[in-house]
Formats: sequence, C-alpha cells, structure tokens
Amino acid sequence: MDKVRTDTTLEPRLVRCPGCGGNSVYGPSNAYRPFCSERCKQMDLGAWASESFKVESSEPGRAAGPEQSA
Ligand SMILES: [Zn+2]
Repeated sequence: MDKVRTDTTLEPRLVRCPGCGGNSVYGPSNAYRPFCSERCKQMDLGAWASESFKVESSEPGRAAGPEQSA
C-alpha cells in the first residue's frame, strides 16, 4: 500500500486558467482561482455577459414560436 502524504493536499495546485490557458495557482493565495489573475477573471466574466446578451438578443422569442393547432 502506498503511503499518501496528507500534507501534499495543503500545497497549492496548479490548474489551467480558463482565461488565458496558462498555469494558475489553485490555492488560498490566489483569490482569483481558478483564474491566474484578476484580469483573466474579469475577461471571462465579460465574455459570459456579452455572450448571454448576444443569445438573448438573437433569440426570436415566443412571438415566432410554433402555431397552436388545437
Ligand atoms: Zn489567466
């Protein structure tokens, strides 16, 4: 059986930053995790916001829905 050092779980892990794809410290020292920096976090939030706006504006809405054949 392998002995697993429990103290390794306390070390910050490196994850992939969703913003720039670079290394990001996933730990208490990184307030913007899983992003590597505040900039990447803001960029991602901005992308989400603009995307949702786009989806909402491009959606035809209920007015163009299928007609009721009842
Ligand atoms: Zn980043």
